[in-house]
Amino acid sequence: MTTSPDAKAQTSIAQTPVQKVAVTPKRKVTYSFEFPNDKNKLDKVRLPYAVAINGKAVSAAKPKRVETSFTVMVEPGSQVSLFLNSDAHPAYRKQSVYAVTPKDRDVHVQIKQKWGKHSNSDTPRLEKTVGEVDYYSALLTGDIWMKVSHKYTEQEADAFMPSGIDSGIREAVLSIYRGLKQSPLIVACTGNAAARIPEILRPPSSLPWEGKARPAQNPLLEWTMPLLFNPGSGAQKKAPADSGKSQAIHKITVEFENADNPKNNITQFSLLTDGLSRVHPRCFLALFSSAFEAKITQIEVSSNWRPLIGSIAHRAGLGLDVTYIENANSNLHIVRSKAAHLNAQQAEEASRIEKTYIQAKQAEKVANKAWRDAETAYKLAKLDPTKVVDAQKVRDVALQEKGSAIAKREESWKAWQEARTAHLPAVLRSFRAALQEKHDLVYQVFDPWLMDSETRDDTPPATNLIRPKNSLEWTHRHHLHLTAVEPDVL
Ligand SMILES: [Zn+2]
Repeated sequence: MTTSPDAKAQTSIAQTPVQKVAVTPKRKVTYSFEFPNDKNKLDKVRLPYAVAINGKAVSAAKPKRVETSFTVMVEPGSQVSLFLNSDAHPAYRKQSVYAVTPKDRDVHVQIKQKWGKHSNSDTPRLEKTVGEVDYYSALLTGDIWMKVSHKYTEQEADAFMPSGIDSGIREAVLSIYRGLKQSPLIVACTGNAAARIPEILRPPSSLPWEGKARPAQNPLLEWTMPLLFNPGSGAQKKAPADSGKSQAIHKITVEFENADNPKNNITQFSLLTDGLSRVHPRCFLALFSSAFEAKITQIEVSSNWRPLIGSIAHRAGLGLDVTYIENANSNLHIVRSKAAHLNAQQAEEASRIEKTYIQAKQAEKVANKAWRDAETAYKLAKLDPTKVVDAQKVRDVALQEKGSAIAKREESWKAWQEARTAHLPAVLRSFRAALQEKHDLVYQVFDPWLMDSETRDDTPPATNLIRPKNSLEWTHRHHLHLTAVEPDVL
C-alpha cells in the first residue's frame, strides 16, 4: 500500500496567496427579427443563422434557426455579427452582417424586413439607450437578402453531381452557374453517364464508344480509359460547350419566368445571373433528371430563389415551383380546379365519392356525440339500480355505432384517396414519381393533388384537399413545388 500525499499537498495549496482578478461582466447581445409582410402564420420565417465573434463563426456546426429573437453573451469590446440564410452553411460563411460591438452596455438589435428597393447598409444604427441597454435598428432589404444568399459557383455545383449523371444534364446544370445568357434553357440529355472529371483530364476528341452504348457506367473506368486511349495531348483541352447537344436523345426546354419578388425588391437583379445561381444545384439536378425519366419535353419554372416572401425553402434557394409540363402525349398546366382533367362521367363519380366521404365524416361526429352522451348517462345511472341496465344497453349500442361510423369514414376516405390519384394526370404522375424517388436530392414535393412533406419516410403522400384555411394546401393548388435536400442549411 502507498501513503497518500494529500495532506501535504493541501497544506501547500492553503498557503498559496489568493490573487484577486477583476472580472468584467459579459455583455448580452440580442437580435430580434420582424417580417411584417408575412401575414400567414404557416409561413413564419425560421431563418438559418450562425453567430460570428470578431468575424469568425463561433461554431462549425450547421446553422441554428431563429423565428423571433436570440441572445449571445460576449466579452465587452467583442464584435458580434451574423451569417444568415444559405450563407450560414458551414462552408459558405463569407460575409457576416449586422455587426455590433457592445462596450459598456448590453445591445438589442431590431431587424425588420422591408419591401421595395433600398440600398441601406446592414450596419445597425443606434436608436436610443434605455438604462443598461443600447437599442439598435437595421433593415433586412432585398439587397441584404441577396448578400446573405449563397451564390453557387460552377465548381461548387459540379461537386453536387453524383457519379453516373447524364452528361447532358450535368452540362445543363453547370451552365446555370456559369451564367445563362437566355431563357429557355435546352437540356440535351445524351443517355451517357458523365463522371465528375476535372476539365483538364477530359479527352481531346470523341470517345471510342461514342454513338454506341456505353461499355460501363463505372466512374473508375471513365477516369482511366480516356487517359489510356490518349495519354498526352488531351491534358490541356476542354470539352466543347455543346458536348452532348449533338448526340441528344431527348431534349427538355426549360422556361424560367422572371421572378417578381426579387425583381421588385433588389436594386440590381437579373434572374439569369443573380437569381438562378442562388438556387441549390440539387434543385435543377432533380428537376432535369426527373423530367428526363418522365420523358417530359417542356417545363415552366415560375419561381425559384424568392427571398422576401413565403416559405424559407424559397428564401434559402432550396425551392422550385413548376407550373407547366408537357410530354409527347399531353400537356398540363399544374392547376387543380374543380373536376379539371376529368370527363363528365369521371367528374360525377369523383364528386359522388367525395360526398360519401364528407357524409361519413359528419355521421362519425354524430355517432361520437351520441356515444359520449350515453356514456355520461350510464355513469349517472350506476347510482340507480332501476336504470343502470337500460343505460348500459344504450351505451353498448352507441359504442357499436361509433365503431361502424369510424369504419365507414375510413373506408370512404380510402375510396376518395384512390379516386383522387386515379385521376392524377399521367404526365404529372410519372414526373412526381421520379421526383419522389430521388431521396438524396428531393425532400418535399407538393402539388394540387398530393402533398409529400417528407419523401424519405414511409408515409405515402397525403391528398391535397385544397382547403383555403390550410395555407400549405391552398398555396399548392396551382403549381408543383419541390424542396431540395440540404441538411447544412435547413
Ligand atoms: Zn414553392
